[in-house]
Amino acid sequence: MVERLIAGGYLRTPEVIEAMLRVPRHLFVPEELEAQAYSDEPLPIGRGQTVSAPHMVAIMCEALDIHREHRVLEVGAGSGYHACVVSLIASRGEVYSIEREPELAEVAERNIRRAGCCGRVTVVTGDGTLGYPEKAPYDRIYVTAGAPQVPPPLLEQLKEDGKLLIPVGSRLGQELLLVEKHEDGSTTTKKIIDCVFVPLIGKYGWKA
Ligand code: SAM
Repeated sequence: MVERLIAGGYLRTPEVIEAMLRVPRHLFVPEELEAQAYSDEPLPIGRGQTVSAPHMVAIMCEALDIHREHRVLEVGAGSGYHACVVSLIASRGEVYSIEREPELAEVAERNIRRAGCCGRVTVVTGDGTLGYPEKAPYDRIYVTAGAPQVPPPLLEQLKEDGKLLIPVGSRLGQELLLVEKHEDGSTTTKKIIDCVFVPLIGKYGWKA
């Protein structure tokens, strides 16, 4: 899988490649889908949700430019796979992952434990459009569900010089946006790629 992602131009940074090599994706999908775990496709994980395709995890990790000591917030824990990969890149940092579906938050925690990433990733249940102020500010924030707008609390909880990656658009299709916050509090936004994510549901997201 990783060789294909490198050949496809999705992976280039040694730290990201190493992290994706080390996290066994088959531990994050339902047992009956294990045989498909290393194909480049999103897979169902229950509650109508999916674990993102590996190329999307690669694109997001590369675009976010995560450093070893970073404190990172993920909105949308799902299976816990993406958070595990990020925790190996931010190997001296902290990863907080917030999930609105309590059942999935439990699944994510169990998977993260099985993969040996527990202690480095904290899964929290709640509405991630409000961020997770308890551990703010964050060096990096990324959202793994499609939003109608950038939720203001996420920008507030981002450090100066921090980066926020979020799919923004309609319920059917979005643009993956990289928002950089500068020292004076201003932001610049760059489009990374067109994408299709499940909807972000919450106060600053879509209605359930
Ligand atoms: N990162 C996940 C992984 O590695 O498996 C994939 C996440 S899946 C594409 C999107 C997730 O966002 C779903 O689990 C969904 O329940 C969650 N979600 C949607 N709205 C949310 C919100 N407001 N706060 C937190 N999680 C939310």
